[in-house]
Amino acid sequence: MFNSLKGLAVTFVSTVKGLRAPVTRQYPDTSDLLMRRTPEPTPVKDRFMGFPSLTWDDEIGEPFCTSCMVCIRQCPTQCMSSVMKDNPLQAEGKSSRRKIVDSFEINLNRCILCGICVEVCNFDAIVMTHEHEMSTFSRNGDRVDLPKLLEIGHKFQKETAWIPPTKRAKVGKDEEPDAAKAGSEAESS
Ligand code: SF4
Ligand code: SF4
Repeated sequence: MFNSLKGLAVTFVSTVKGLRAPVTRQYPDTSDLLMRRTPEPTPVKDRFMGFPSLTWDDEIGEPFCTSCMVCIRQCPTQCMSSVMKDNPLQAEGKSSRRKIVDSFEINLNRCILCGICVEVCNFDAIVMTHEHEMSTFSRNGDRVDLPKLLEIGHKFQKETAWIPPTKRAKVGKDEEPDAAKAGSEAESS
């Protein structure tokens, strides 16, 4: 009897509009047929794992990726490919990377967002970004090349005040770089 009344109460609260805030969200908002509102993407959490992309080394002005092929060999869906070249900035004495990525492609339609590529990369060169809205109508529509991967990766770096994990491990907590401090201050405010 008590359980029946409890069930009825839950049904009543869920049925009457306004008594309980919705737990889901309509996106894009199709209720506005005249499209007067710009559809805003649903915000994602910091830990959200979207599509993988390549990172950019702002200090030197080149990708972190040396095209070493480790991630490509470990990818369970074999959706990545890459070609390396001699690094011209190394010849000029500006970079310690002897080899650098020349071309890189990820077929995001086949990517299962497992994060293995990020785990196995020794050069902080690839990250799981917050990018997730890349639907297309063609089977090969999400083959993403090097410039696009770097663009997505750089956007993620800026938005999250990203610091290369190996650098973060070296400096330790007492000597957090400025970007890390800015990120943690923003989180606490
Ligand atoms: S992303 Fe990392 S593991 Fe993959 S090819 Fe580039 S440097 Fe190597
Ligand atoms: S997230 Fe997984 S499936 Fe996607 S590219 Fe990386 S290793 Fe491959």
